[in-house]
Amino acid sequence: ANAVLSSYGTTIFTVMSTLAQKHGAINLGQGFPEGLEPPAVLRAAAEAAEAGPHQYPPMMGIPALRQAIAAHDRHFYGLDVDPETEVMVTSGATEALADCLFGLIEPGDEVVLIEPLYDSYLPIVRRAGGIPRLVRVAPPDWTLPRQALAEAFSERTKLVLLNSPMNPSAKVFDDDDLAFLAELVLRHDAYAVCDEVYEHLVFDGRRHRPLITLPGMRDRCLRIGSAGKTFSVTSWKVGYVVAAPALLAPVAKAHQFLTFTTPTCLQHAVAVGLGQEPAVLDHLAVDMAARRDRLAEGLRDIGFPVLHSAGTYFLTADIRGVGFDGTDEDFCRHITEAAGVTAVPFSAFYQDQRTAPRHYARFCFAKLDRALDEAVTRLRRHV
Ligand code: PMP
Ligand code: GLN
Repeated sequence: ANAVLSSYGTTIFTVMSTLAQKHGAINLGQGFPEGLEPPAVLRAAAEAAEAGPHQYPPMMGIPALRQAIAAHDRHFYGLDVDPETEVMVTSGATEALADCLFGLIEPGDEVVLIEPLYDSYLPIVRRAGGIPRLVRVAPPDWTLPRQALAEAFSERTKLVLLNSPMNPSAKVFDDDDLAFLAELVLRHDAYAVCDEVYEHLVFDGRRHRPLITLPGMRDRCLRIGSAGKTFSVTSWKVGYVVAAPALLAPVAKAHQFLTFTTPTCLQHAVAVGLGQEPAVLDHLAVDMAARRDRLAEGLRDIGFPVLHSAGTYFLTADIRGVGFDGTDEDFCRHITEAAGVTAVPFSAFYQDQRTAPRHYARFCFAKLDRALDEAVTRLRRHV
């Protein structure tokens, strides 16, 4: 009866980072930034750790952080959020996602997801008893296939999970896409879980527009953010959910049994970060776009066609451009072993790898210039 101890696989990020370490490779696989941690935020964490307290904070998050999140959403999105009843702090966006899915999905509910998708979505949707309905966006533009999306909704749809800016495609959905989706959510009396962890990583003068700001969406969307992304501190695992009280309540029920709380000193530091001049957050995208351009240019120069990255800290390269004759997995293993550079095979972000595109690799460009340059030099020598 116990032939299979667990049906969870191993996440691609662990697989590739372990391989990178084994070969001493520059790790452009797992997405984490280098050299961008804001000193004021780090200092605030150290001070708060020194000062304490170090026992369980309030389950919904410390008041200072909930107020800072509400102020952030007012400033950037014009949202009027009640910090008392509409904000919940979580241990990373990963926990926020799990809270939303475990809190809202009842066995048999259908969940609409857009593929390629971030790797934690499907295992949690399934464990929550949800039935995934996948809609694919296709390269090079990752255009939302409206008819397929409309057909994925039914009277059994509980929610749609939207990730914009989108990992791994680096797509940023535009206002028309959002309006189309909002209309479907309303028509089917459904909800939307909005993974917006890359909200401050939208490039080329565009701005992030949360689905929750569209007409009719205020009571139907749960907006998820991540301090790990916003302040380039991915180990901290401080995330949050903003939603109307009636939507947040069942999600908080899941939170109480998953982590219950998040380290107090880190919550204080994130509150300080969000309390800075908003221009500081705008600067992140400018800085990151320069890194994007640097790596994209280097890869193109070697012969890789590179897809446009409108947001996130990822770009996608076409491995056929250098005449590589094998799958994306072969390629990522090969460049790790032979060149000392690691990327993530794009097909890992699909439910069924057999029908996924097998000729793309995802590179993280959120690194120091010298790491990006060295990666390009190494790849030039070995592909
Ligand atoms: N969603 C997406 C799309 C991500 O790329 C990530 C990865 N960082 C997360 C959620 C998880 O964020 P956190 O580290 O705050 O748990
Ligand atoms: N979000 C990061 C990525 O897409 C990694 C997160 C993780 O390691 N689980 O690479």
